[in-house]
Amino acid sequence: MDYTKLSILELAKLLREGKVTSVELTKQVLAKIKEKEHLHALNSVMEEYALARASEVDQMFSEGKELPTLAGIPITIKDNINIKGFNTTCSSKFLENFVAPYSATIVENLEKNYAVIVGKNNMDEFAMGSSTENSAFYPCLNPRNEECVPGGSSGGSAAAVAADLGFASVGTDTGGSVRQPASLCGVVGLKPTYGLVSRYGIVAFASSLDQAGPLTKTVKDSAVMLNALAGHDAKEETSANVEKVDYMDSFTGSVKGVKIGLIKEFFGEGLDEEVKNAILDAANFYKSKGAEIVEISMPFVGSALACYYILSSAEAASNLSRFDGVKYGVSVDDPKNLNDLYLRNRSQGFGKEVKRRIMLGNYVLSSGYYDAYYKKAKKVQRLLVQQFADTFSKCDVILSPTSPTVAFKIGEKANDPLAMYLSDIYTVPVNIAELPAISIPCGLNKDNLPIGMQLIGKKFSEKTLFNVADVFETMKGEN
Ligand code: GLN
Repeated sequence: MDYTKLSILELAKLLREGKVTSVELTKQVLAKIKEKEHLHALNSVMEEYALARASEVDQMFSEGKELPTLAGIPITIKDNINIKGFNTTCSSKFLENFVAPYSATIVENLEKNYAVIVGKNNMDEFAMGSSTENSAFYPCLNPRNEECVPGGSSGGSAAAVAADLGFASVGTDTGGSVRQPASLCGVVGLKPTYGLVSRYGIVAFASSLDQAGPLTKTVKDSAVMLNALAGHDAKEETSANVEKVDYMDSFTGSVKGVKIGLIKEFFGEGLDEEVKNAILDAANFYKSKGAEIVEISMPFVGSALACYYILSSAEAASNLSRFDGVKYGVSVDDPKNLNDLYLRNRSQGFGKEVKRRIMLGNYVLSSGYYDAYYKKAKKVQRLLVQQFADTFSKCDVILSPTSPTVAFKIGEKANDPLAMYLSDIYTVPVNIAELPAISIPCGLNKDNLPIGMQLIGKKFSEKTLFNVADVFETMKGEN
């Protein structure tokens, strides 16, 4: 039997009933990874490590030990998250041969839950992009239509889950990089509240916006993953010290009385008609289940994209200044002097998009422009935070498209950075305001490509998001 299409919860049951072993699951996933190699969803496969861990878990199951839900489940993680002793490449030439000297806190958390990590996912270089075409190694293909991109920057993660190469993945989301690829590949993607999941051991892009989150086949599996990932981390300054909750307690099966907000400005120009209709259908579905639909205006939300590209690039320029090729990474022979060494290392090591962000970031931070760009963007951020607070006094969750379009063709936007940046129009406001949001599939367009919808909540309202998303996922078919 092929188990690779099942959900984590289904497998957890089978594992405990002794109907399947973790080694069997791991072998099936490894075989699928081989079979689907051409998708380029993975940069590396950790076969020996995974099989060894799987057999440890099987041993514990056979001794009758009670284990966490994730025990024995093969998963993948994005290649900007450290696992001690394995490569962390960030899909960059700069880090092609870099071996992580320590594990990220979230990897330790996954290991404590006995998840079996089988490989690391392809991504846009240093998580900058919306299509995974910025990978320095190879673009990743969308398993739903191989002529299309899977989205980005966690495109390899979304493609892996959609193609059954592991039962979940962990991506990172600075401006939409978990949710947008989830939407384009037809899987579930969660961006948790800033601070809920530790960033320790994850290569930083824009530290004030970065947040890791799970990609899964179902909403309940997302809750299983968040249970493992979330938690205070003393090693990380911005880690939130909130009480640990069980996200599996989220599900009531009802949205009666829940106020769902539709932001007027999210339904304007640039939104694909079929995507728009799917979101409005979802709103009608919720109404039919007893939710109240509230129309709200957020006049500043249109400034979020500009604000995001200023703030994220400024932080990226600063974070990436550590890549100089001295301690590790690309290093040229016979440099003439220190400047020449830096210049040539960085010119050779970074790809086009990363260089664009570094230039943009240094520009908005440079004296003379700092006030006009960086400082102004910080002010816009404050206004957006305020506007979200006002909005959440009128509704419990916001329903919106995740991405203005379905998956686009490989190459279609590769030479048009502005068109590419517009893919993030509905996702970046969430990062700027440090909020949680989930993307779930909500239908197919006429070409059979998945459409994703986004639910945005107040800080630390992941449980509400899970419940509202789960009602749609489990009951939509009944309508
Ligand atoms: N697409 C956005 C960007 O290129 C978001 C990236 C991300 O969330 N890592 O910056």
